[in-house]
Amino acid sequence: RKVQNVAVLGATGSIGTATAEVITHLNQTDTESEWRMWAASGHRNLDGLMQIAAAADPGPQWLVMSDPESAKTFADTRKDLIASNNLTGIRLDYGSDALIEVAQHPEVDVVVAAIVGRAGLESTLAAVEAGKRVALANKETLVVAGPLVRRAMQASGAEILPVDSEHSAIFQCMGPATIAGSDCPAPKPKKLILTASGGPFRTWSKQQMQSATIESALDHPTWDMGPKITIDSATMMNKALEIIEARWLFDLPADAIEVVIHPQSIIHSMVEFDDGSVLAQLSPPDMKLPIQYALTYPRRLPCASPGLDRGRQWDLTLEVADLERFPGLALGFEVAAAGGTAGAVVNAANEEAVGLFLDGQIRFTDIVSGCRDVLANHTHESDPPLARLLELDRWARLETRNRFKL
Ligand code: NDP
Ligand code: MG
Repeated sequence: RKVQNVAVLGATGSIGTATAEVITHLNQTDTESEWRMWAASGHRNLDGLMQIAAAADPGPQWLVMSDPESAKTFADTRKDLIASNNLTGIRLDYGSDALIEVAQHPEVDVVVAAIVGRAGLESTLAAVEAGKRVALANKETLVVAGPLVRRAMQASGAEILPVDSEHSAIFQCMGPATIAGSDCPAPKPKKLILTASGGPFRTWSKQQMQSATIESALDHPTWDMGPKITIDSATMMNKALEIIEARWLFDLPADAIEVVIHPQSIIHSMVEFDDGSVLAQLSPPDMKLPIQYALTYPRRLPCASPGLDRGRQWDLTLEVADLERFPGLALGFEVAAAGGTAGAVVNAANEEAVGLFLDGQIRFTDIVSGCRDVLANHTHESDPPLARLLELDRWARLETRNRFKL
């Protein structure tokens, strides 16, 4: 079997642990390829990383704890931890530079970019520059630096396969149509229709949302995800980020992207073609399918998660998205249309504001209004280099805190 070495960056997170399950499943079922978690990273959760490494078969060669402070924290215990997890002989590095080394290592075939937030940018870009197959969960990288990632991809020949379920759905719907062995060219879509569950506050009034608690915002009705994206789903900033992600991933203008509310999270997104025909991709809300497809594309193999239960009552509904109650959505369309520095600024303001909300320092509705204010306070530039984007990222975080006098 052909060996596929996978580097899972952000292995201790929600996508990371689902990826570990997918790799184990593929290794037991794929007759063509042998799947290995060759490297894995965590940021602070050393115990979690050790457990993932110990459960992987074959086990990884290289572990990275990207938080440099971890080296101090774990200096005394790491030898014991490594020995007690039977991981002796594995290379263990601390600090984010090692992420880049891993992402570009010649032994690595696929990089799963599953770090949360702008922190995933450098390693994701490094993997793209090295011409890897990148299974991209880290949407923030495209939001901050979409055009730079596209250019790097074109220069290196890297493949970016979406893991985000909506973008995977669109990618699957756009695939070339093949009729009985005669290949047709893939038609260009007219519209991308992103579905959104609507999150826990889908039916809440603006006023109710003003006093939304952390607990209620973290209680997502259909998806089990990390805390940052769960709050993003409640504000619908997640959909805003996905509009921008789609704009760069599929190279379509913002006005070719639409959002509809679909509370059941079964239809993961849709594509409309010039003749008005709309194709959709359906599966249960489980990230293992899009993760696996990004790894095995173009092959489709039996999946670790069960398919749709077609024996049950179907109740799939679509609703018009309410940009009034969810102003984050309108912001997403604006930022996707503006391009340039707008994505980096809004993404940083959002990351900072989500952190402040989770710390109990600002109200739920402050998150999106904060993003809008910080965006309005910056002077737009249309073709910024990476250094400028990173500078604006730092500026927008400070500006967000200043806005709330923190
Ligand atoms: P989690 O919070 O569950 O996991 C985040 C991962 O990133 C952990 O491994 C964490 O390490 C690591 N990490 C945190 N901060 C840093 C940092 N500063 N530098 C390096 N690594 C860091 O997030 P999710 O798995 O939910 O999300 C990951 C990405 O995937 C996000 O971009 C999200 O938008 C996207 N995504 C997630 C989906 C989901 O279903 N969860 C669906 C679609 C997209 P540690 O825990 O060890 O500190
Ligand atoms: Mg998504």
